[in-house]
Amino acid sequence: MSETIKVAVAGAGGRMGREVVKMVLADEQLELVAAVDRSGAGTDAGELVGLKPCGLIATSDLDAALAQTKPDVLVDFTVPSVVYGNTVTAIKHGVRPVVGATGFTPQQIEELDTLCREANIGGLIAPNFSIGAILMMQFAAKAAEYLPHVEIIETHGDQKLDAPSGTAIKTAELIAQGREKIKQGNPNEEEVLPGARGGEYDGFRIHSVRLPGVFAQQEVIFGGYGQSLKIRHDSYERAGYMPGVNIGIKKVLEYEGMVYGFEHLM
Ligand code: NAD
Repeated sequence: MSETIKVAVAGAGGRMGREVVKMVLADEQLELVAAVDRSGAGTDAGELVGLKPCGLIATSDLDAALAQTKPDVLVDFTVPSVVYGNTVTAIKHGVRPVVGATGFTPQQIEELDTLCREANIGGLIAPNFSIGAILMMQFAAKAAEYLPHVEIIETHGDQKLDAPSGTAIKTAELIAQGREKIKQGNPNEEEVLPGARGGEYDGFRIHSVRLPGVFAQQEVIFGGYGQSLKIRHDSYERAGYMPGVNIGIKKVLEYEGMVYGFEHLM
C-alpha cells in the first residue's frame, strides 16, 4: 500500500460529500484521487466544495473512476437508490467501501460482507458517523439498566420528513434491550391534547420537536427517586461527522469483511 491512503468520494457534490472532500484535502495522510457525482462533472473538486482549485476534476462515472485511479477506499454519501450498486462496484475493483449513505436491507449487508471477504478487503457501513451521538446512545443504554424511567426528546430542523428521527429509534432500541419492561406514567393518564405525551416505544415515550435553525439534538432523560439524569448530544453542522469518517477510512484498511455500525470501530 502507498504511504498515503488514496480516497475516492462518491456524492462529492452533495451536502455530506462536500464535507468529506474538504476533510480528505486537509489530511496529509489522505490523497483525494477521485470525486464522483452525477452532477458537477468537469468542475475542479476543490471549487466544487467552495475551496481553491486542487487540480482534480470531478467525474460522473464511478466504475471508470475506480478503474483509472485505483483508490484504497471509496467514501460514499450518495443516495439510497444507488448506494448498494456503488458498494458492489467498489468491492469488484478491490476498493474498500466506507459508506454513510443510508438505505441497505439486512440481506444486502450480509451479501456485501460475503463479497468483501471473498475479495479479502474490509468495508464499513455507518448510519451515524457522529462519535458523540454514538456515545450518547451507549451511555443511555447503560443508564436504562439502572434507571428504567426514561423519555427521549429529539429536536431537528422543521423540514425533516420523518419523526421520530432514526437516531431516536436506534436509541430506544438500545435502551429497551437492558431496561426493565415497565409501562411508565399514571395508568389513568389522559391526553387532553392528542399527542401531548409523544410516541410510545416499549412503554416509554419519544418526543419530536421541529424548529427552523436547529440541526440535530437529542436529550435522554432518566427519572429516579429524588433524582434525574440527562444525557444530551448536540450536532451543530455536518463537519461534526467528519472525525468519524476519517477514522473509518483509516481503520477499514485493518480488517476483512463488512462492519455495520461505527460503534464497532470505537
Ligand atoms: P445530498 O442530496 O446533499 O447529496 C447526495 C449527492 O449524491 C448529490 O450531490 C447527488 O448528485 C449525488 N448522487 C446521486 N446519485 C449519484 C450517483 N449515481 N453517482 C454519484 N453521485 C450521485 O444528501 P446528503 O445530505 O449529503 O446525504 C447523503 C446521504 O448521507 C443520505 O443517505 C443521508 O441520509 C446520509 N447521511 C448519513 C450520515 C451518517 O452519519 N452516516 C449523516 C448525514 C447524512
